[in-house]
Amino acid sequence: MGVRIHKLANELGLDSKELIEILQDLGEEVDSHMNTVSKETAEMVTDMVFEEEETTKDIIEVEDDITVKELAEKIDIAPNSLMAELINLGIMATINQELDFETVEEIAAEYGYQVKSIEVDSDDEEDVFGLVNNIEDDPNDLELRPPVITVMGHVDHGKTTLLDAIRKSNVTAGEAGGITQHIGAYQVEVNDEKITFLDTPGHEAFTEMRARGAQATDLAVLVVAADDGIMPQTVEAINHAQAADVPIIVAINKIDKPNAQPDRVKQELTQHGLVVEEWGGDTISVPVSALKQENLDELLEMILLTAEMQELKANPNRPANGVIVEAELDRGRGPVATMLVKNGTLNVGDPIVAGLAYGRVRAMIDDHGDRIEKAGPATPVEVLGLSDVPSAGDPMEVLEDDQQVRKIAEKRQDQRRVEKLERKAAVSLDDLFDQIQDGEIKELNILIKADVQGTVEAVRGSLVKLGTDEVQVNVVHGGVGAISETDVMLAAASNAIIIGFNVRPGNKARSVAEKEGVDVRTYRVIYEAISDVRDAMEGLLDPDY
Ligand code: GDP
Repeated sequence: MGVRIHKLANELGLDSKELIEILQDLGEEVDSHMNTVSKETAEMVTDMVFEEEETTKDIIEVEDDITVKELAEKIDIAPNSLMAELINLGIMATINQELDFETVEEIAAEYGYQVKSIEVDSDDEEDVFGLVNNIEDDPNDLELRPPVITVMGHVDHGKTTLLDAIRKSNVTAGEAGGITQHIGAYQVEVNDEKITFLDTPGHEAFTEMRARGAQATDLAVLVVAADDGIMPQTVEAINHAQAADVPIIVAINKIDKPNAQPDRVKQELTQHGLVVEEWGGDTISVPVSALKQENLDELLEMILLTAEMQELKANPNRPANGVIVEAELDRGRGPVATMLVKNGTLNVGDPIVAGLAYGRVRAMIDDHGDRIEKAGPATPVEVLGLSDVPSAGDPMEVLEDDQQVRKIAEKRQDQRRVEKLERKAAVSLDDLFDQIQDGEIKELNILIKADVQGTVEAVRGSLVKLGTDEVQVNVVHGGVGAISETDVMLAAASNAIIIGFNVRPGNKARSVAEKEGVDVRTYRVIYEAISDVRDAMEGLLDPDY
């Protein structure tokens, strides 16, 4: 009997991979099959790791813009002494001067400190929207799970027809008349193996989920109509799948059509880096007719084959986590959310948090409309019992109890409120339209500066006329002269943007504007300013401005 590597790693605060590397460096034997090491080895490594910690306790953390004064404080010497030290190194530095990392290291070493560089990133806050309980599973607990598929491709190439056809053709005999229920995802069984399909086709949904940190898809089926070939959204779909590192299987659809040209599709695919197998590449392509339900079995088999190579695994014996596929407020049932369980098993009665919503799983309904008690990895289920309607792409997870899920959800709600307020404080032409749409902005405040008074008045008149029922345009200030720091502060206080004609902000004003998030735009032609503001109000402004 040995000691399990993952357990040992946990005790030492390492991950299993790091530990295995240390063991290999030491020339210790690792039984990779059993993932264990001998007791003696475990003791030795433990001693070693703890010893190392003791000798390196004098670590100072420095930000990459550390100044002479700050470093002096950290290593506990007078700034003057540090400046003298620096002169010895040939560096003439003032007290507020920033130092480069090598210099900091050298000085610190002299005083017996080790330096650890930490990034200063104001965005580097705790991600309150991510998973709370993200413990890695013991590899021994993992079991194979079904693959999750997204269907992508150009509009009208047959994505919806294909999803419907697969669903219909695989309704098992036992199901009453093949009644199915659209819950946003479904599962079919092929040769005793399951495949999960996300029912919202298209790369937009796929990427929106990804933007929220939810990579739910294992495999993309790219639908290309054989009578139409590669079209712009086909290319987009390829790019989105590749950016996510998701393998692609091509379904060459509509082969029943007399003008179908499957070879042309293959040819065009090569121009986008997808070379089909029969031409020596590694992209699997299957000719199908979604409408006539032809060759769908082969497509499904290819999906299973590709999934097999991915060795998709999950641990069914842990509290569930997953992602929201879709959600709505149902009149009779309250918030209803379809979740895809990614790991673990979801049970009726589990306390869950999903985005900003929380609650207990009151009931679960599968894609056949049947009530179920449990849902394992890669299973889509409709869940009742949430306090609120979460958004597609939100992570969901089971936590310990009602208090914990509530606490996490409330923390997220607070954070969202803060973000909203922050956004409100910084109006900008670039996202003006979104803010109007979200109802956050009812009036657009503008501060005008110009080289002559006549221009100020002309611009004021034209801008005010742009006002609509939804948004009023106010000029909070108009004046002659350069854009000053005071102008910027006024704009910040009144949530205004600044428009300048033949005048620019000074250095100080510019840096304050940056800090306060004030949008400053300068123009030479009145017409351009007017059309930018108009476009921004209508959501037409080119964000590359
Ligand atoms: P989507 O926009 O990609 O979801 O495309 P749809 O599934 O809505 O299909 C667009 C049109 O193509 C519909 O009129 C379908 O009936 C038709 N269609 C889809 N698959 C086939 C097929 O295999 N053969 C033929 N002849 N028509 C198809």
